[in-house]
Amino acid sequence: MAAKEQVTATAAGKYVMCGHCGGGWYWWRKIVLSSGSASFFDVEVFSPEAIVLSCSGCGKIQLFESGTLELRTQQEQQQR
Ligand SMILES: [Zn+2]
Repeated sequence: MAAKEQVTATAAGKYVMCGHCGGGWYWWRKIVLSSGSASFFDVEVFSPEAIVLSCSGCGKIQLFESGTLELRTQQEQQQR
């Protein structure tokens, strides 16, 4: 999956909807939280890997632990 493509995200069987504009398409990237940034986000007890979802509509950023999210590109959605 290319990181340049917009994706929809599913967590715990529910689509991740943007809390601001209600959109469902995101730019995403996987990040590894260094101890410094993990402290910043207050997630030291969780996995150091996280997925950043940036809403393609309004730019609101949401942060998820890696492994809890299913990301699908438009192409993958059409195949289902
Ligand atoms: Zn949004």
